[in-house]
Amino acid sequence: MSASPTLRQLLLRGCETLGAAANPDASPRLEGELLLAHCLDVDRAYLYAHADDLADPTAVACFDKLVQRRADGEPVAYLTGEQEFWSLPLRVTPSVLIPRPETELLVELALARLPGDQDIRVADIGTGSGAIALAIASERPRAEVHAVDVSADALAVARENARRLALGNVIFHPGSWCTPLAGDFDLVVSNPPYVRADDPHLGTGDLRFEPRAALTPGEDEYLAFRAIADGAAARLLPGGGLLFEHGFRQGEAVRSLLEEQGWKDVETFRDLAGLERVTAGRKPGDA
Ligand code: GLN
Repeated sequence: MSASPTLRQLLLRGCETLGAAANPDASPRLEGELLLAHCLDVDRAYLYAHADDLADPTAVACFDKLVQRRADGEPVAYLTGEQEFWSLPLRVTPSVLIPRPETELLVELALARLPGDQDIRVADIGTGSGAIALAIASERPRAEVHAVDVSADALAVARENARRLALGNVIFHPGSWCTPLAGDFDLVVSNPPYVRADDPHLGTGDLRFEPRAALTPGEDEYLAFRAIADGAAARLLPGGGLLFEHGFRQGEAVRSLLEEQGWKDVETFRDLAGLERVTAGRKPGDA
């Protein structure tokens, strides 16, 4: 049997395998480090400080196995079981969408609409891992955040994240869109499924491993937006806000859909890549 490799040698070997597999959007060095750090139960900085340490056989076996699974396409976040969002370490499983950096724009816009010094009620529809609800709850301790998901498995992940982050101001509801919620909300936010069922994008990269129901509402890519906007209109206080994340080509259609339903101050915001990503509206009424 050959001598144990050093962490540096092990990492290099893994990065070569990952580089050769050429997953689209992959970054072999970063992914190799995340997988090795996970197997050793350390942070990435440790790998540099201990590059000349010998890797024990358990770590080698763990790393080689995860590198192979990643080379075969599985998302890194599902292999490590973790993804950072809004600086919060979140647990993720294949039952939830992997939180995306673009979604932080939705959180930013939500916080701009939520004063920190008042008791406010916020709803996150289709919470998945709980990313949006927990980010808002962490920034607005006085807010009561209601998180809804139709998937019991997703809700279990979101609840576990709330527990691990000790965020007690989030209430979880199983159910479809807004239906489990009773009224008087200040803000409703959602990153709903919005990819059309026949979009070839669904057959690429990490999306192949993510829950279909979190990505696509079916043939009609606007179905979830319509259902959530309907439900939100009946539950928001007068002047209450609605925020939707959507696909970068969907801004115009989401604006029209909201305007047709009578929403006011409908406006779309661009993400860091300059793409239309979040549309906001306000419920008509005397606020
Ligand atoms: N933004 C994701 C993607 O296209 C989709 C997320 C969603 O459907 N809410 O990769």
